[in-house]
Amino acid sequence: MDEYLNRAVRLLGSEFGAPAHTRVFAPGRVNLIGEHIDYNGGRVMPCSLSLGTYAAAARRGDGRIRLVSADMPGETVETDAAQIASLPHESGAFRRFGWAAYPLGVAAKLISRGRGIGGFDMAVMGSLPRGSGLSSSASLEVLTCAVLRELFGFELGGVEAALLSREAEHDCAGVNCGIMDQFICAAGRENSALLLDTGTLEYSYFPFDLGEYTLLIMNTKKPRRLASSKYNERRSECGEALRLLRTAYPEKAALCELTPEEFRAAAHLLPEPLLRRARHAVTENRRTEEAAAALSAGDMTRFGALLNASHDSLRFDYEVTGFELDAIVEAARAHSSVLGARMTGAGFGGCAIAICASSEAEEAKKDIAAVYNEKTGIECEIFTARTADAPFGGMM
Ligand code: ADP
Ligand code: MG
Repeated sequence: MDEYLNRAVRLLGSEFGAPAHTRVFAPGRVNLIGEHIDYNGGRVMPCSLSLGTYAAAARRGDGRIRLVSADMPGETVETDAAQIASLPHESGAFRRFGWAAYPLGVAAKLISRGRGIGGFDMAVMGSLPRGSGLSSSASLEVLTCAVLRELFGFELGGVEAALLSREAEHDCAGVNCGIMDQFICAAGRENSALLLDTGTLEYSYFPFDLGEYTLLIMNTKKPRRLASSKYNERRSECGEALRLLRTAYPEKAALCELTPEEFRAAAHLLPEPLLRRARHAVTENRRTEEAAAALSAGDMTRFGALLNASHDSLRFDYEVTGFELDAIVEAARAHSSVLGARMTGAGFGGCAIAICASSEAEEAKKDIAAVYNEKTGIECEIFTARTADAPFGGMM
C-alpha cells in the first residue's frame, strides 16, 4: 500500500511540482452475494478490498483544478472550481473530461451540497483491474470525497459520501448504477463483510471469517463490452415487472419487497422474460439473507451452495453471465477444493469468486486457470482476496 501512495506523491511532484498535503487510499470491492438487486431494493453483501485507488493531493490558492492519473497517460485534465460549480450535471457536460468526469462530478456534487471547494492538484493511481467488476469507478469517487474533505476541512459522513458519489456516477458520468458500490467503498472495514439493505440503507457489519477456506477472485480478462446497454435493459425490465406485480401488490415499492412466496402467487401476471428477471431479484434477496446466516454460523458448505445457486439464477433467469464467466465458474466448481463459485459485479465478463479450501488454494488457482485457458484461450488472473479499511469505515 505504502508503495502505491509513494508513487502517487512522486507523480504529484513530477506532474504539477506540488507537495502532498494529503494522501488517501480507497478500496475496491467484491460482492459476495446479492447481485443485480441493489437497484431493486434488495439486500447485498459486499466487502472492501486491499486493492483500490490511491491519491496524493495539494490545495491551490488560485482556484485551478488539475488531475492526473498514472493509469491514463496523456489524459491530464485542467479546469477550475468556478467552472465545475457552474456546469449542469445531467447534460453530459462532464463527459468531455474522460476519466476525470468521476472526480470532477464528485467535486460538483460536494459544491451543490454546500461544501466549499477551491483549487487543488490531485495525482491518482490504481491497483485494481478497471472495468472488471471490482468497482474501480466507485473507488475513485469515494477517494475524491476523502481527499476533498481533508484538503478543505468540511464535515462529511460515510452515508452522504456514498450517496453523492453515486449521484456523480449517475448524473455526471452517465452510469445508472445502484448504491452498493459507493456504500462499501466508503464504509467497508478490514476483516468484515457488510450486509446492506439497499431499500432502507440499514446496514450491519459482521466478521468475514471463512475459517479453513479462502475467497478467490478470478478475473476472466474478458472486457464487459455489453455490460452498460444490457444493464440498462435489465433495469427497465425490472421496472416493468414491478409495475405489473403492483396490480396485485399496490403497496410494494421495489421488487425485493416481495417474498418468494408472494412472488409465486402473482407470477402469472408476468410474461417472459420479465418472469425470470423478477424471479432472480426476489430469490437472490432471500439467498443473501440465508448467506448471512450461513456465514455467521460458520456453515461454509451452505454458503458455497448459495453462491452456486446465485450464479445459476444470474445465468438462466437474469442472463448476465456469458461464455467466459460460465467457463471460469464451471472450472472452479469442478475442482475438489471448491465449495461454490459465482460471477460477481455487473456480469458479461469481469470477475467471478470461489470459496476454496485454504490448504489447496495454490493448486486450485493453477488448475482452474488451466481448464479455463483450454476452453477459452484466455490467460486469466486468479488471486486471494484480502479486505481493507475504507476511508469512512471508522466513522460509521
Ligand atoms: P469498474 O467500476 O467495474 O472497475 P467502470 O467502467 O464502472 O468499471 O469504471 C472504470 C472507469 O473508472 C475507467 O474507465 C476510468 O474512467 C475510471 N477509473 C477507475 N480507476 C481509475 C484510475 N486509477 N485512474 C483513472 N481513471 C480511473
Ligand atoms: Mg463501476
